[in-house]
Amino acid sequence: MSSNARNGTVVCVTGASGYIASWLVKFLLVRGYTVKATVRDPNDPKRVDHLLNLDGAKERLHLFKADLLEEGSFDHAVEGCEGVFHTASPCLFDVKDPQTELIDPAVKGTPNLLKSFAKSSSLKRVVLTSSMASIIYSGQPRTPEVIVDETWFSKPEFCREVKLWYALSKTLAEDAAWKFVKENNIDMVVIHPGVVLGSLLQPSLNDSSAAVLKLLTGTQTSPNLTTGWINVKDVAHAHIQAFEISSANGRYCLVETLAHFSDIVKISHELYPTLPLPEKFVMDEPLMPKFQVSKERAKTLGIEFVPLDISLKETIESLKEKKFLDF
Ligand code: NAP
Repeated sequence: MSSNARNGTVVCVTGASGYIASWLVKFLLVRGYTVKATVRDPNDPKRVDHLLNLDGAKERLHLFKADLLEEGSFDHAVEGCEGVFHTASPCLFDVKDPQTELIDPAVKGTPNLLKSFAKSSSLKRVVLTSSMASIIYSGQPRTPEVIVDETWFSKPEFCREVKLWYALSKTLAEDAAWKFVKENNIDMVVIHPGVVLGSLLQPSLNDSSAAVLKLLTGTQTSPNLTTGWINVKDVAHAHIQAFEISSANGRYCLVETLAHFSDIVKISHELYPTLPLPEKFVMDEPLMPKFQVSKERAKTLGIEFVPLDISLKETIESLKEKKFLDF
């Protein structure tokens, strides 16, 4: 990416201290954008110091306090912006109360943010961070010949039936967003990453990195789950491209490769033979089959697709550097 391409353009990033958003803020600053970043607690050094220390932050990063559940919370942050990157949403896989912890913030929060967007005259496009979770749970079979693409939509009733609460939150939030933008004539592009890998900029452990960490510490047998994987830098880059390329539109799946969780264990062990991996990591039952995810639309955003082994290496090195992994 060339630097200083966008001097003077002001954009907003919601949930800026998160795993994906921190990389997005970093890349936006490198490109010369002025970034209005929302966080729930601007006074918590663990959530904001890594952002304030980014190159360009002193001159062009502005922090705003905002909560998805408070109506009007994003008004000040989006004022004067040309674009909004809406990444804020709970990304939690183990919750006690799905409605309060996941569904309410994701589903009520999206129209709250979009209402602020609709009030502003400067805004041109919103880029929403959704997930492959709002695509793949349609109830259709996923087998090696099947190519999942952007025409797939997860079904809320299917997610509820199999208690996939995170997928339900992302599916309902995306539905609510499309409804709102259609009624209010807002230009929206939606990015659907698979499970995200790569270095952490923030000091704390986010839930998807924690799931990978569990596999690497030998404390957990790998779940019998085949899923799509993507590097965090590709995800951040896709968001910026989705904003900058005027012809970008609709939904974009973002998956470099499909791999079973046990493959993640195997590759990690090949890369780092001293990692304390569980001896038994392949399930007894038949492994969930692989399927394919189309890269056609993502390629039009110029995504490079960092290969899985490099993404894993970056994750492991980062977890080690931050002392979450010790081997
Ligand atoms: P993360 O590090 O946990 O970031 C989530 C962000 O959402 C945090 O910054 C958090 O803000 C914010 N947030 C949560 N509840 C909020 C609320 N009530 N009000 C305002 N902000 C709130 O997770 P992430 O992996 O970067 O996820 C970012 C986005 O990517 C999410 O939309 C997630 O669904 C999506 N995604 C993630 C993955 C993945 O594998 N990681 C894959 C596909 C899609 P605080 O800093 O204030 O806590």
